[in-house]
This record gives sequence, structure tokens and C-alpha cells, in this order.
Amino acid sequence: MLWNQPCPNGGRLVEIFRSLTRGSPGEPDLMRFETLSKDEAISAFRQHEHEGLCHTVWTFYTPFIAGICNCDRSDCLAMRSTVTHAVPVMFRAEYVAKIAPEECTGCRECMRLCSSAPITFSPSNKKTVIDQRWCYGCGICRSVCKKDAIHLEDRATSPIAAALW
Ligand code: SF4
Ligand code: SF4
Repeated sequence: MLWNQPCPNGGRLVEIFRSLTRGSPGEPDLMRFETLSKDEAISAFRQHEHEGLCHTVWTFYTPFIAGICNCDRSDCLAMRSTVTHAVPVMFRAEYVAKIAPEECTGCRECMRLCSSAPITFSPSNKKTVIDQRWCYGCGICRSVCKKDAIHLEDRATSPIAAALW
């Protein structure tokens, strides 16, 4: 959470959150929240990627960014709703992933991390391939590819994914 962000209608996010949750049974202890520097936050994001946690950006009053969440489909209600039940409550990224077949060794590590399952393995040529119709463009799969075979490209340039959000 970007606690100290000024909000569009005044005040700071932390103050608004505090006023909304004060006295409720699940009131969080805000004193236990950590504040990260930019470098610490980026480092945490990289660590999350290796754990297969997908970054999602949450706007509470678009385009005001109130939070960047990191989770996977087993924990994220929004992701489950969108990916598993085809009830979209979040948009995809402006990118789609693509695997360079000449670089891919077929280790399948990327399949293990993807929360939306567009990656398949071909036993005939022992390579993986991404079906861009189901790719959310999170880029998490890249973090485990030792061959650097996965690249993100502009969604707009993909004939089958350009109009899919
Ligand atoms: S992690 Fe990289 S090398 Fe391994 S299957 Fe995926 S794309 Fe291929
Ligand atoms: S970029 Fe696409 S293929 Fe890679 S982990 Fe994200 S959704 Fe899966």
C-alpha cells in the first residue's frame, strides 16, 4: 500500500483507511505495517516473482494508484474470478509473453509459475509455447527462465491478443 500518497479528494490514504476501518472487528494494526524505500520495494518485487507472485496494480479512483498487490491464483479472489471463472474484475497488462523456440530447452520451469496457464509443452519438439489469448502479460514466467527465452511484447502488436483485455 502506498500509505502516504495524497488522495484525489484530499487527505492521505493511510488516514482514509484508518477512518474506514476504525472500530471494525478486523481493524488492522497499522503500526505494524512496514515502510519500504523504492529500492527495497523493487527488490521485494523481484523476490515475489521468483515465488510466482503476480504484481497487480489497484486503482481506487482511476487513475489514482492505491496499491500494488503480489499474490497468486490460489490466494487472489480477483485473479480466481477473472482467470478461473471468466468473470473479469481486472484488466490484463499491455504486454503478452512470447517464447523464442531457438532459446527454449524445454525445462518447463515457466509452466510452474504461470497463474493463468497459457503455457504448454510439446513432447514432439520438447519446447514450450505460450497461447497469447490466455496470457495476462505479467512477465512472471521470465524470472525462472535461465535461457532468457521469454520476452514481453506489446499487446497491440499481437494479432490474436491485441483486443483482449
Ligand atoms: S523456462 Fe525458458 S527454457 Fe525452460 S521451458 Fe520455459 S521458456 Fe523454455
Ligand atoms: S506473462 Fe503470460 S505466460 Fe508468463 S506468467 Fe504471465 S500470464 Fe503466464
